[in-house]
Amino acid sequence: MTRFATDGDSDRLGGLYIHIPFCVKKCIYCDFYSTIDLGKISRFLDALQREIKLAGNCRLTFDSLYIGGGTPSVLEPADIGCIVESVLGQFDVLPEAEITLEVNPGTLSPEKLEAYRQGGINRLNIGVQSFHNDNLEFLGRIHSGYQAHETIQWARQAGFDNIGLDLIYGLPGQDPGQWIADLEQAVVLAPEHLSCYMLTRESGTPLDREIKAGRLRLPTGHTMRKLFDSTIDFLAAHDFYHYEISNFARLAENGRCPWMSRHNRKYWSADPYLGLGPSAHSFIQPRRWWNFSSVSEYVRKIAAGQLPLGGEETLTREQRMLEVIYLGLRTKEGIDLRAFERNFGLTFEKVYKEELGQLQNEGLLELTPAQCRLTRDGMAFHEAVAAMLTGR
Ligand code: SF4
Repeated sequence: MTRFATDGDSDRLGGLYIHIPFCVKKCIYCDFYSTIDLGKISRFLDALQREIKLAGNCRLTFDSLYIGGGTPSVLEPADIGCIVESVLGQFDVLPEAEITLEVNPGTLSPEKLEAYRQGGINRLNIGVQSFHNDNLEFLGRIHSGYQAHETIQWARQAGFDNIGLDLIYGLPGQDPGQWIADLEQAVVLAPEHLSCYMLTRESGTPLDREIKAGRLRLPTGHTMRKLFDSTIDFLAAHDFYHYEISNFARLAENGRCPWMSRHNRKYWSADPYLGLGPSAHSFIQPRRWWNFSSVSEYVRKIAAGQLPLGGEETLTREQRMLEVIYLGLRTKEGIDLRAFERNFGLTFEKVYKEELGQLQNEGLLELTPAQCRLTRDGMAFHEAVAAMLTGR
């Protein structure tokens, strides 16, 4: 089997992810692979162009391209434009594809945003995290709340009509009122999309080390739950549709919801995706593979004419089933029971009869003839509920 054999997935539209592994400074909570050694950018860009060519035999058709990181906006617009152009030249990408660039407010100017737009980017995901400077400083961000405001204004002036903001809540000692103030500022700016992430302790990060040393403490589960609830209530009252545990899309005036992240939904629906760049993961049923999490190793492998493959696995039917459950339960739509039966030849309600009964009685889960989805209580305890069904 070649690396890009698509098995049963060739009729499903795929997502293409490109990882830009550079940041100006590391944030205390982040465990994504990136380096602050910006001197490696030019060697990385050459290698990426070669990887795009090597991967160009992929038989998928893509309707989304997501350039993430790291901090892709450390790259000049001409470099981003070259990446987009190469991708469009090498892969089968639909003309109406969603093309997202992740940007950091500390790396932008009106001219840069304008040039990104000219280079083919049609959606921005802005890492705001908070509008409060003390929070931004604590998180190790390189920008102020004012710069975040300015960035959104500049993005609108540059013609971006599809903008997502990332925010973080649940900082040590955070006053719930301060979190609502962040949300208030966000909705006034009328982004099309909001991702609201709970601050989590990822192993090996400076945040993790501070907590281990007893110098920091995250809010209790009870406080986190209150923040989670207030997020959903506040955003619902401002016409945002809660479509995944941490994600909200603004409703259009006709009541439709056109701004859910097309790319991220692929991850939750087990759709195929191809990842390029250091540490990027790919998944085309039943195979998953990933690149080296090292710019040097990535560049070295590609210079030797090899794919920068860091590892791979072929999922068994049972592993795929468990993934469909785990990821599907993150979404408002939940698990599509008919697709489950079609794909695995099993009736979901029969296999999990006992667990489903218990979870329904506890008010954590709802079953309809077509879907199995979590209630709000269930979403708050997603990991525990999914573990009950998947035995993890
Ligand atoms: S800017 Fe983004 S990718 Fe870079 S360290 Fe901070 S959170 Fe991680």
